[in-house]
Amino acid sequence: MLKEADVVIIRFGEISLKSSNVRSRMINRLCENINAALKNRGIEGTVYNKWSRVIVTDFDDPEKIVETVSSLPGVVSVSPCKVVEPDIDSMVEGLLEISTDNFEGNTFGIKARRAGDKNTHEFSSRDICEKAGSSLLENLEEAEVDLEDPDQWFYVECRKEKAFLYLEKYRGPGGLPVGSEGKVVSLISGGHDSPVATYKMMCRGCEVIPLYFSMGEYSGIDIDIRAFKTVEQLKKFAPNFDWDVRVADIGKTVEDLMEDLKNTRMVVLRRFMLIVAEKLAEKEGARGIVTGESLGQKSSQTLGNLDVVSKVVDMPVHRPLISFDKSEIIEIAREIGTFEGSSIESGCVNLAPNRPEVSGDFEKIVDVEPGYLEERAEQVVRNISIEEV
Ligand code: ATP
Ligand code: MG
Repeated sequence: MLKEADVVIIRFGEISLKSSNVRSRMINRLCENINAALKNRGIEGTVYNKWSRVIVTDFDDPEKIVETVSSLPGVVSVSPCKVVEPDIDSMVEGLLEISTDNFEGNTFGIKARRAGDKNTHEFSSRDICEKAGSSLLENLEEAEVDLEDPDQWFYVECRKEKAFLYLEKYRGPGGLPVGSEGKVVSLISGGHDSPVATYKMMCRGCEVIPLYFSMGEYSGIDIDIRAFKTVEQLKKFAPNFDWDVRVADIGKTVEDLMEDLKNTRMVVLRRFMLIVAEKLAEKEGARGIVTGESLGQKSSQTLGNLDVVSKVVDMPVHRPLISFDKSEIIEIAREIGTFEGSSIESGCVNLAPNRPEVSGDFEKIVDVEPGYLEERAEQVVRNISIEEV
């Protein structure tokens, strides 16, 4: 890591394809989110939009900036940089300086890029590579150039106003900054899937209203803690938003469904959850519902059952993990830090019957579905409680 960095530059991808109004709104949003994430962790740094980049200055430790910023939605990559004037001599001198303290291997390569049209600079990116390459060869004893797979790449990004020199590019999740795409209600159970699904929607710019269903005597002892812990973790990626968990107590309805239904109870329970979610979404001004469902993962997640479940609401139900394998989901959960919370022992109570309905037969479900769901959902939403995380 380039310890003596002057700035950390933060690259964004899709945002740059937007029209200028949208782009500037999204960049401002990204700056606000980065600022909030740093403040939340007590990390010093000033964030602003300059030289067509989001940059951070005035920090103590670039490593902490990289660690925090590289997981934020909307960030494509992050590099601690030395900043020099955009002329060849300054760039070569800067590279010599950073190579002295940051080169341990035997081989190096230089990648230079110029931004702007042909006339912006009086030299080409090739000129930068050639000049800098021969100076580095003289300076770094016994080092050789390798342009395939060197021990160390030196990067130069020469823009109109300044040139940035850096050694590494840390990848972010990309996408759009949280808050640029409106609100969704996300069903978060605290298992591995739903927090990952929620993070995926955050990476498409969604602000999240977390909804957790408490199932009374059918909840495991510590099952709510899992949900709250994972929400706490998700909050770190966008602490400047409302993350209060909406806790919906559906214990009575679950109890009744256990008594009234057998094979179909899981599908009906999912439908009931969506009715509640839709009502909450309408109340909160959200425009979509998110779940961690994945095709075929459980009996209630067959193609047919997902269809029957979705049909109970008019609002779109988003399932970002629909095509993900469990192993891929777990990998992301580890990366974003929700794995630990989801792994808390919860003493899960199994609600599923021995032979759950998998047919996705709409008529069959609607036929047995009790008539009280709508009214119960109204009641549940009226009595939602709030858990601060
Ligand atoms: P997860 O899917 O979060 O790992 P899970 O596997 O226990 O938890 P499933 O039975 O697969 O849950 O439920 C499918 C989806 O329904 C979940 O991903 C979640 O979005 C939603 N869901 C299930 N139970 C709850 C709950 N108690 N509170 C909120 N949402 C829930
Ligand atoms: Mg699941």
